[in-house]
Amino acid sequence: MKKPERYKHFVEYFSKQQPNAVTELHYGSPFQLLIAVILSAQCTDKRINQVTPALFERFPTPESLAASTPDEVFNYIRSVSYPNNKAKHLVGMAKMLVDVFNIEVPAGIDDLQKMPGVGRKTANVIASVVFDAPAIAVDTHVFRVSNRIGLTTNARTPLAVEKQLIEYLPQDTLGIAHHWLILHGRYICIARSPKCEICPISWFCKYYERTHTEAALLKAEALKLKKAKDQKKKNALNKISKELAKRSVDKDI
Ligand code: SF4
Repeated sequence: MKKPERYKHFVEYFSKQQPNAVTELHYGSPFQLLIAVILSAQCTDKRINQVTPALFERFPTPESLAASTPDEVFNYIRSVSYPNNKAKHLVGMAKMLVDVFNIEVPAGIDDLQKMPGVGRKTANVIASVVFDAPAIAVDTHVFRVSNRIGLTTNARTPLAVEKQLIEYLPQDTLGIAHHWLILHGRYICIARSPKCEICPISWFCKYYERTHTEAALLKAEALKLKKAKDQKKKNALNKISKELAKRSVDKDI
């Protein structure tokens, strides 16, 4: 299957099945979303949603957070990953909102990235979710799932993945495609053991094609048997090789 075809199936499937996919982070304003996304780096949304209610209550505005200290913020976020750094980032981010951005979360990717704790991924989430910009944030799920499905080819960095997704996805699906890929990666296409057997998009997934088709399974078996010493196994290998020859997939054995 060619790449544009995979994209077509991807957009068609998820547009129909998850037309309203959104972030699982809880927030009530751009400022709160910015806090939640900064905290969510290397951490689960579930954990972030546990700590943000008290944090948002204590620091309802950029001014209140800017007037605080990393030590105080630390007490509210001690259970998330890297709490020391994130506490510093949150206070630094709030100070910049107050001192540089007139207490408003900026819309531009470059401005967003000037703030402590805000990398390209976080900036893209804010630009896309808050400002409806044609941007797509590449986190670990988006990176892995795009590669597995075959939406990207030889994309070894988040930026390379981002560029390929932007090239092929219709612009009006960029924001929601980010959520489709995250949710699929979180619940089905899991990092260590993807649930291919129950995956509804396996029929257009490149990884599935490579690892689960009959020819692929035969090929894997033949490779295992290649090192076999006894005659019985060699006979089995010959049989499989002939079968593969018929299917023209034996060139790598
Ligand atoms: S078939 Fe497997 S690898 Fe492909 S998207 Fe589904 S779970 Fe992921």
